[in-house]
Amino acid sequence: MTMPILPGATLGGLGSGQLGRMFAIAARRLGYRVHVFSPETNTPTGQVADLEVSADYLDLDRIAEFANGVDVVTFEFENVPAETTEICNRFCPVRPAGRVLFTSQNRLREKTFLRDAGLPVTPFVAVRSVAELTAGLQQSGVPAVLKTADWGYDGKGQIVIRSLDEAAAAWAALSVPQAILETFIDFDSELSVVGVRGIDGQFASYGPIGNSHSHHILDVSVCPARVSMSVAASAIEITRSVLEKLDVVGVLCVEFFLTTTGELLINETAPRPHNSGHLTIDAHVTCQFEQQVRTICGLPLGSTELRSPAAMANLLGDVWEAGTPDWATALGYPNLKLHLYGKQEARAGRKMGHLTVLDKTVDDAESIARQARASLGRQTIQ
Ligand code: AMP
Repeated sequence: MTMPILPGATLGGLGSGQLGRMFAIAARRLGYRVHVFSPETNTPTGQVADLEVSADYLDLDRIAEFANGVDVVTFEFENVPAETTEICNRFCPVRPAGRVLFTSQNRLREKTFLRDAGLPVTPFVAVRSVAELTAGLQQSGVPAVLKTADWGYDGKGQIVIRSLDEAAAAWAALSVPQAILETFIDFDSELSVVGVRGIDGQFASYGPIGNSHSHHILDVSVCPARVSMSVAASAIEITRSVLEKLDVVGVLCVEFFLTTTGELLINETAPRPHNSGHLTIDAHVTCQFEQQVRTICGLPLGSTELRSPAAMANLLGDVWEAGTPDWATALGYPNLKLHLYGKQEARAGRKMGHLTVLDKTVDDAESIARQARASLGRQTIQ
Protein backbone atom coordinates (compact mmCIF):
# COMPACT_ATOMS: atom_id res chain seq x y z
CA MET A 1 0.00 0.00 0.00
CA THR A 2 1.26 3.49 -0.90
CA MET A 3 1.86 5.64 2.19
CA PRO A 4 -0.18 8.85 2.25
CA ILE A 5 1.62 12.17 1.98
CA LEU A 6 0.64 13.89 5.21
CA PRO A 7 0.26 17.56 6.19
CA GLY A 8 3.67 19.12 6.70
CA ALA A 9 4.90 17.65 3.41
CA THR A 10 5.62 19.80 0.34
CA LEU A 11 3.38 19.76 -2.72
CA GLY A 12 4.73 20.88 -6.09
CA GLY A 13 2.57 22.58 -8.70
CA LEU A 14 3.41 23.13 -12.36
CA GLY A 15 1.63 26.26 -13.55
CA SER A 16 0.98 29.42 -11.61
CA GLY A 17 -2.45 30.84 -12.53
CA GLN A 18 -5.67 31.05 -10.56
CA LEU A 19 -6.17 27.27 -10.46
CA GLY A 20 -2.78 26.86 -8.84
CA ARG A 21 -3.59 29.69 -6.44
CA MET A 22 -6.80 28.08 -5.21
CA PHE A 23 -5.02 24.72 -4.95
CA ALA A 24 -2.24 26.34 -2.91
CA ILE A 25 -4.75 28.01 -0.58
CA ALA A 26 -6.51 24.67 0.01
CA ALA A 27 -3.16 22.93 0.57
CA ARG A 28 -1.89 25.52 3.03
CA ARG A 29 -5.16 25.40 4.97
CA LEU A 30 -4.46 21.70 5.40
CA GLY A 31 -0.95 22.43 6.65
CA TYR A 32 1.07 21.54 3.55
CA ARG A 33 3.89 23.56 2.06
CA VAL A 34 3.51 24.53 -1.60
CA HIS A 35 6.19 25.08 -4.24
CA VAL A 36 5.18 26.38 -7.67
CA PHE A 37 7.04 26.26 -10.98
CA SER A 38 6.24 28.35 -14.07
CA PRO A 39 8.00 30.67 -16.51
CA GLU A 40 6.48 33.78 -14.89
CA THR A 41 7.15 35.79 -11.73
CA ASN A 42 4.84 37.33 -9.10
CA THR A 43 2.06 35.04 -10.23
CA PRO A 44 -1.40 34.34 -8.73
CA THR A 45 0.00 31.07 -7.30
CA GLY A 46 3.44 32.43 -6.42
CA GLN A 47 1.84 35.10 -4.22
CA VAL A 48 0.39 32.43 -1.91
CA ALA A 49 3.02 29.68 -2.25
CA ASP A 50 6.00 29.00 0.03
CA LEU A 51 8.34 29.02 -2.95
CA GLU A 52 7.98 30.35 -6.49
CA VAL A 53 10.45 29.02 -9.07
CA SER A 54 10.51 30.94 -12.34
CA ALA A 55 12.05 29.01 -15.24
CA ASP A 56 11.07 27.46 -18.54
CA TYR A 57 9.27 24.10 -18.42
CA LEU A 58 12.01 22.74 -20.68
CA ASP A 59 14.80 23.85 -18.35
CA LEU A 60 15.11 20.26 -17.22
CA ASP A 61 17.85 20.92 -14.65
CA ARG A 62 15.63 23.41 -12.84
CA ILE A 63 12.69 20.99 -13.16
CA ALA A 64 14.78 18.19 -11.62
CA GLU A 65 15.86 20.45 -8.76
CA PHE A 66 12.22 21.48 -8.21
CA ALA A 67 10.89 17.90 -8.22
CA ASN A 68 13.70 16.83 -5.86
CA GLY A 69 12.42 19.35 -3.32
CA VAL A 70 8.77 18.23 -3.18
CA ASP A 71 6.86 15.06 -2.20
CA VAL A 72 4.42 14.99 -5.14
CA VAL A 73 3.90 17.00 -8.31
CA THR A 74 0.60 18.07 -9.82
CA PHE A 75 -0.33 20.65 -12.46
CA GLU A 76 -2.91 23.28 -13.13
CA PHE A 77 -2.99 23.29 -16.91
CA GLU A 78 -2.65 20.73 -19.65
CA ASN A 79 0.12 22.14 -21.74
CA VAL A 80 3.11 21.07 -19.68
CA PRO A 81 5.58 19.24 -21.98
CA ALA A 82 5.78 15.45 -21.56
CA GLU A 83 9.57 15.66 -20.95
CA THR A 84 8.88 17.86 -17.93
CA THR A 85 6.55 15.41 -16.22
CA GLU A 86 8.90 12.53 -17.08
CA ILE A 87 11.78 14.24 -15.27
CA CYS A 88 9.54 14.97 -12.26
CA ASN A 89 8.55 11.32 -12.14
CA ARG A 90 12.16 10.32 -11.46
CA PHE A 91 12.00 12.12 -8.13
CA CYS A 92 8.39 11.81 -6.93
CA PRO A 93 4.92 10.78 -8.08
CA VAL A 94 3.16 12.98 -10.66
CA ARG A 95 -0.62 12.95 -10.15
CA PRO A 96 -2.58 12.72 -12.38
CA ALA A 97 0.08 10.75 -14.29
CA GLY A 98 1.91 12.26 -17.26
CA ARG A 99 0.07 9.94 -19.67
CA VAL A 100 -3.30 11.46 -18.61
CA LEU A 101 -1.90 14.87 -19.42
CA PHE A 102 -0.50 13.59 -22.72
CA THR A 103 -3.94 12.27 -23.74
CA SER A 104 -5.85 15.40 -22.70
CA GLN A 105 -3.50 18.00 -24.13
CA ASN A 106 -4.24 17.11 -27.75
CA ARG A 107 -7.86 17.15 -28.89
CA LEU A 108 -7.35 14.37 -31.43
CA ARG A 109 -5.66 12.01 -28.97
CA GLU A 110 -8.30 12.83 -26.37
CA LYS A 111 -11.33 12.32 -28.59
CA THR A 112 -9.87 9.17 -30.18
CA PHE A 113 -9.17 7.70 -26.73
CA LEU A 114 -12.69 8.45 -25.51
CA ARG A 115 -14.39 7.19 -28.67
CA ASP A 116 -12.32 3.96 -28.62
CA ALA A 117 -13.33 3.52 -24.97
CA GLY A 118 -16.97 3.53 -26.10
CA LEU A 119 -17.78 6.96 -24.65
CA PRO A 120 -20.04 9.46 -26.47
CA VAL A 121 -18.03 12.27 -28.08
CA THR A 122 -18.89 14.91 -30.69
CA PRO A 123 -18.40 13.30 -34.11
CA PHE A 124 -14.97 14.31 -35.49
CA VAL A 125 -12.32 13.65 -38.11
CA ALA A 126 -8.59 14.38 -38.16
CA VAL A 127 -7.49 16.99 -40.69
CA ARG A 128 -3.94 17.58 -41.99
CA SER A 129 -4.55 19.40 -45.30
CA VAL A 130 -7.17 21.40 -47.23
CA ALA A 131 -8.01 18.21 -49.14
CA GLU A 132 -8.74 16.35 -45.88
CA LEU A 133 -10.71 19.33 -44.63
CA THR A 134 -12.86 19.42 -47.77
CA ALA A 135 -13.44 15.65 -47.56
CA GLY A 136 -14.31 16.01 -43.86
CA LEU A 137 -16.79 18.78 -44.56
CA GLN A 138 -18.44 16.70 -47.26
CA GLN A 139 -18.81 13.92 -44.72
CA SER A 140 -19.91 16.01 -41.69
CA GLY A 141 -21.88 18.67 -43.53
CA VAL A 142 -21.92 22.34 -42.52
CA PRO A 143 -21.80 24.14 -40.20
CA ALA A 144 -18.78 22.44 -38.66
CA VAL A 145 -16.08 23.55 -36.22
CA LEU A 146 -12.39 23.36 -37.10
CA LYS A 147 -10.11 23.35 -34.03
CA THR A 148 -6.35 23.15 -33.57
CA ALA A 149 -5.38 19.76 -32.16
CA ASP A 150 -2.90 21.30 -29.68
CA TRP A 151 -3.08 24.27 -27.36
CA GLY A 152 -6.80 24.91 -27.57
CA TYR A 153 -8.78 26.45 -24.75
CA ASP A 154 -11.58 28.98 -24.28
CA GLY A 155 -12.43 28.81 -27.97
CA LYS A 156 -8.89 29.84 -29.02
CA GLY A 157 -7.82 28.23 -32.29
CA GLN A 158 -11.39 27.53 -33.46
CA ILE A 159 -13.21 28.47 -36.64
CA VAL A 160 -16.84 27.78 -37.50
CA ILE A 161 -17.12 26.82 -41.18
CA ARG A 162 -20.51 27.54 -42.70
CA SER A 163 -19.94 26.58 -46.35
CA LEU A 164 -17.56 24.36 -48.32
CA ASP A 165 -16.14 27.46 -50.03
CA GLU A 166 -14.68 28.61 -46.72
CA ALA A 167 -12.43 25.53 -46.37
CA ALA A 168 -9.24 26.96 -47.90
CA ALA A 169 -9.46 30.26 -46.00
CA ALA A 170 -10.20 28.49 -42.71
CA TRP A 171 -7.25 26.12 -43.15
CA ALA A 172 -4.92 29.02 -43.95
CA ALA A 173 -6.21 31.04 -40.98
CA LEU A 174 -5.67 28.18 -38.51
CA SER A 175 -2.15 27.63 -39.87
CA VAL A 176 -1.32 24.42 -37.98
CA PRO A 177 -0.09 21.03 -39.21
CA GLN A 178 -2.93 19.12 -37.57
CA ALA A 179 -6.51 19.96 -36.65
CA ILE A 180 -9.78 18.33 -35.71
CA LEU A 181 -13.04 18.91 -37.57
CA GLU A 182 -16.13 18.49 -35.45
CA THR A 183 -19.78 18.41 -36.35
CA PHE A 184 -21.44 21.61 -35.13
CA ILE A 185 -23.66 20.47 -32.27
CA ASP A 186 -27.10 22.00 -31.97
CA PHE A 187 -27.08 21.91 -28.19
CA ASP A 188 -29.78 22.69 -25.69
CA SER A 189 -27.26 23.42 -22.93
CA GLU A 190 -23.67 22.90 -21.83
CA LEU A 191 -22.91 20.93 -18.68
CA SER A 192 -19.86 19.81 -16.77
CA VAL A 193 -19.16 17.24 -14.12
CA VAL A 194 -16.03 17.57 -12.00
CA GLY A 195 -14.88 14.05 -11.17
CA VAL A 196 -12.50 13.13 -8.36
CA ARG A 197 -10.70 9.79 -8.04
CA GLY A 198 -8.53 8.61 -5.19
CA ILE A 199 -5.46 6.42 -5.27
CA ASP A 200 -7.64 3.43 -4.28
CA GLY A 201 -10.17 4.10 -7.08
CA GLN A 202 -12.73 5.81 -4.81
CA PHE A 203 -14.85 8.17 -6.98
CA ALA A 204 -16.85 11.32 -6.16
CA SER A 205 -18.28 14.07 -8.32
CA TYR A 206 -19.78 17.54 -8.42
CA GLY A 207 -22.71 18.44 -10.61
CA PRO A 208 -23.76 18.34 -13.32
CA ILE A 209 -23.07 22.06 -13.32
CA GLY A 210 -24.89 24.16 -15.95
CA ASN A 211 -22.57 26.44 -17.94
CA SER A 212 -23.21 29.41 -20.18
CA HIS A 213 -20.44 30.87 -22.31
CA SER A 214 -19.90 34.28 -23.80
CA HIS A 215 -17.50 34.58 -26.74
CA HIS A 216 -16.40 30.96 -26.06
CA ILE A 217 -15.31 31.84 -22.50
CA LEU A 218 -17.20 30.46 -19.50
CA ASP A 219 -19.47 33.21 -18.21
CA VAL A 220 -21.86 31.80 -15.60
CA SER A 221 -22.12 28.37 -13.93
CA VAL A 222 -24.99 27.09 -11.79
CA CYS A 223 -25.30 24.08 -9.53
CA PRO A 224 -27.40 22.00 -9.65
CA ALA A 225 -27.81 22.25 -13.43
CA ARG A 226 -31.38 22.50 -14.71
CA VAL A 227 -31.54 18.95 -16.11
CA SER A 228 -33.58 15.83 -15.40
CA MET A 229 -32.38 13.28 -12.86
CA SER A 230 -31.72 10.76 -15.60
CA VAL A 231 -29.51 13.19 -17.58
CA ALA A 232 -27.68 14.05 -14.34
CA ALA A 233 -27.13 10.36 -13.53
CA SER A 234 -25.79 9.57 -17.02
CA ALA A 235 -23.44 12.58 -17.01
CA ILE A 236 -22.00 11.36 -13.70
CA GLU A 237 -21.70 7.76 -14.96
CA ILE A 238 -19.89 8.89 -18.12
CA THR A 239 -17.53 10.99 -15.98
CA ARG A 240 -16.83 8.06 -13.67
CA SER A 241 -16.02 5.98 -16.71
CA VAL A 242 -13.65 8.63 -18.15
CA LEU A 243 -11.69 8.78 -14.87
CA GLU A 244 -11.56 4.99 -14.65
CA LYS A 245 -10.52 4.44 -18.27
CA LEU A 246 -7.78 7.07 -17.94
CA ASP A 247 -6.89 5.69 -14.48
CA VAL A 248 -6.86 9.23 -13.07
CA VAL A 249 -5.63 9.94 -9.57
CA GLY A 250 -6.77 13.50 -9.03
CA VAL A 251 -9.47 15.79 -10.39
CA LEU A 252 -10.75 15.76 -13.97
CA CYS A 253 -13.59 17.78 -15.45
CA VAL A 254 -15.75 16.50 -18.30
CA GLU A 255 -17.56 19.13 -20.38
CA PHE A 256 -20.70 18.01 -22.20
CA PHE A 257 -23.16 19.23 -24.78
CA LEU A 258 -26.75 18.23 -24.03
CA THR A 259 -28.24 18.09 -27.52
CA THR A 260 -31.75 19.21 -28.44
CA THR A 261 -32.63 15.49 -28.71
CA GLY A 262 -31.50 14.84 -25.13
CA GLU A 263 -28.18 13.15 -25.95
CA LEU A 264 -25.01 13.80 -23.90
CA LEU A 265 -21.83 14.27 -25.94
CA ILE A 266 -18.39 14.95 -24.46
CA ASN A 267 -16.91 18.19 -25.80
CA GLU A 268 -13.64 18.01 -23.88
CA THR A 269 -11.94 16.99 -20.67
CA ALA A 270 -9.51 18.84 -18.41
CA PRO A 271 -7.32 16.76 -16.05
CA ARG A 272 -7.44 19.31 -13.20
CA PRO A 273 -9.91 21.48 -11.30
CA HIS A 274 -12.08 23.51 -13.67
CA ASN A 275 -13.51 27.01 -13.84
CA SER A 276 -17.04 25.58 -13.63
CA GLY A 277 -16.06 23.95 -10.32
CA HIS A 278 -15.05 27.22 -8.63
CA LEU A 279 -18.45 27.40 -6.97
CA THR A 280 -17.55 24.23 -5.02
CA ILE A 281 -15.36 26.42 -2.76
CA ASP A 282 -18.43 28.04 -1.23
CA ALA A 283 -21.28 25.69 -2.13
CA HIS A 284 -19.94 22.21 -1.32
CA VAL A 285 -18.71 20.56 1.85
CA THR A 286 -15.30 19.89 0.27
CA CYS A 287 -14.16 21.94 -2.73
CA GLN A 288 -12.50 20.68 -5.90
CA PHE A 289 -9.12 22.11 -4.82
CA GLU A 290 -9.13 20.34 -1.46
CA GLN A 291 -9.98 17.13 -3.35
CA GLN A 292 -6.98 17.75 -5.60
CA VAL A 293 -4.82 17.94 -2.46
CA ARG A 294 -6.42 14.87 -0.92
CA THR A 295 -6.19 12.71 -4.06
CA ILE A 296 -2.59 13.53 -4.94
CA CYS A 297 -1.62 12.86 -1.31
CA GLY A 298 -3.37 9.48 -1.23
CA LEU A 299 -5.86 10.60 1.43
CA PRO A 300 -9.59 9.74 1.59
CA LEU A 301 -11.93 11.98 -0.42
CA GLY A 302 -14.11 14.56 1.32
CA SER A 303 -17.88 14.86 0.94
CA THR A 304 -19.06 16.48 -2.30
CA GLU A 305 -22.48 17.25 -0.82
CA LEU A 306 -24.02 20.50 -2.08
CA ARG A 307 -24.77 22.82 0.84
CA SER A 308 -26.87 25.29 -1.14
CA PRO A 309 -27.89 26.04 -4.73
CA ALA A 310 -25.24 28.33 -6.17
CA ALA A 311 -24.23 30.44 -9.13
CA MET A 312 -20.75 31.58 -10.16
CA ALA A 313 -20.06 34.53 -12.47
CA ASN A 314 -16.60 35.06 -13.94
CA LEU A 315 -15.01 38.49 -13.64
CA LEU A 316 -13.06 39.24 -16.78
CA GLY A 317 -10.68 42.15 -17.26
CA ASP A 318 -13.49 44.00 -19.04
CA VAL A 319 -15.01 44.76 -15.64
CA TRP A 320 -12.05 47.08 -15.01
CA GLU A 321 -12.63 49.03 -18.23
CA ALA A 322 -14.33 51.96 -16.51
CA GLY A 323 -11.83 52.02 -13.63
CA THR A 324 -11.63 50.15 -10.33
CA PRO A 325 -14.75 48.00 -9.94
CA ASP A 326 -17.21 48.96 -7.24
CA TRP A 327 -16.32 46.14 -4.82
CA ALA A 328 -18.21 47.64 -1.89
CA THR A 329 -21.56 47.46 -3.71
CA ALA A 330 -21.01 43.84 -4.71
CA LEU A 331 -19.94 42.90 -1.20
CA GLY A 332 -23.19 44.46 0.02
CA TYR A 333 -24.96 41.26 -1.14
CA PRO A 334 -24.75 39.14 2.01
CA ASN A 335 -24.74 35.74 0.21
CA LEU A 336 -21.99 36.70 -2.20
CA LYS A 337 -18.39 35.49 -2.02
CA LEU A 338 -15.74 37.41 -3.95
CA HIS A 339 -12.59 35.71 -5.24
CA LEU A 340 -9.84 37.76 -6.88
CA TYR A 341 -6.72 36.17 -8.32
CA GLY A 342 -4.11 38.86 -7.67
CA LYS A 343 -3.36 39.46 -11.35
CA GLN A 344 -1.49 42.72 -11.88
CA GLU A 345 -2.97 43.76 -15.20
CA ALA A 346 -6.65 43.65 -16.22
CA ARG A 347 -6.97 42.87 -19.93
CA ALA A 348 -10.21 42.30 -21.86
CA GLY A 349 -11.12 38.60 -21.75
CA ARG A 350 -8.57 37.82 -18.97
CA LYS A 351 -9.96 35.88 -16.02
CA MET A 352 -9.32 38.17 -13.03
CA GLY A 353 -11.67 36.63 -10.47
CA HIS A 354 -15.14 35.27 -9.90
CA LEU A 355 -18.04 35.70 -7.56
CA THR A 356 -20.28 33.01 -6.14
CA VAL A 357 -23.78 33.55 -4.79
CA LEU A 358 -25.64 31.03 -2.62
CA ASP A 359 -29.43 31.21 -2.49
CA LYS A 360 -32.59 29.15 -2.00
CA THR A 361 -32.89 28.34 -5.70
CA VAL A 362 -30.52 28.28 -8.63
CA ASP A 363 -32.65 30.93 -10.38
CA ASP A 364 -32.32 33.31 -7.43
CA ALA A 365 -28.59 32.67 -7.10
CA GLU A 366 -28.02 33.26 -10.82
CA SER A 367 -30.08 36.41 -10.91
CA ILE A 368 -28.21 37.93 -7.95
CA ALA A 369 -24.82 36.88 -9.32
CA ARG A 370 -25.58 38.63 -12.62
CA GLN A 371 -26.98 41.67 -10.85
CA ALA A 372 -23.98 41.93 -8.53
CA ARG A 373 -21.55 41.60 -11.42
CA ALA A 374 -23.38 44.28 -13.36
CA SER A 375 -23.01 46.58 -10.35
CA LEU A 376 -19.20 46.32 -10.70
CA GLY A 377 -18.82 47.85 -14.13
CA ARG A 378 -19.08 46.68 -17.73
CA GLN A 379 -18.76 42.97 -18.55
CA THR A 380 -18.57 42.74 -22.32
CA ILE A 381 -15.92 41.44 -24.68
CA GLN A 382 -15.54 43.37 -27.92
P1 AMP B 1 -13.90 24.46 -26.45
O1 AMP B 1 -12.68 25.34 -26.42
O2 AMP B 1 -13.78 23.27 -27.35
O3 AMP B 1 -14.40 24.11 -25.09
O4 AMP B 1 -15.08 25.35 -27.08
C1 AMP B 1 -15.53 26.53 -26.47
C2 AMP B 1 -17.00 26.70 -26.75
O5 AMP B 1 -17.26 26.75 -28.17
C3 AMP B 1 -17.86 25.55 -26.24
O6 AMP B 1 -18.13 25.68 -24.88
C4 AMP B 1 -19.10 25.72 -27.11
O7 AMP B 1 -19.91 26.78 -26.64
C5 AMP B 1 -18.51 26.10 -28.47
N1 AMP B 1 -18.26 24.87 -29.27
C6 AMP B 1 -17.11 24.15 -29.29
N2 AMP B 1 -17.23 23.06 -30.07
C7 AMP B 1 -18.48 23.07 -30.57
C8 AMP B 1 -19.23 22.19 -31.43
N3 AMP B 1 -18.68 21.08 -31.96
N4 AMP B 1 -20.52 22.51 -31.69
C9 AMP B 1 -21.08 23.63 -31.18
N5 AMP B 1 -20.44 24.50 -30.37
C10 AMP B 1 -19.16 24.24 -30.06
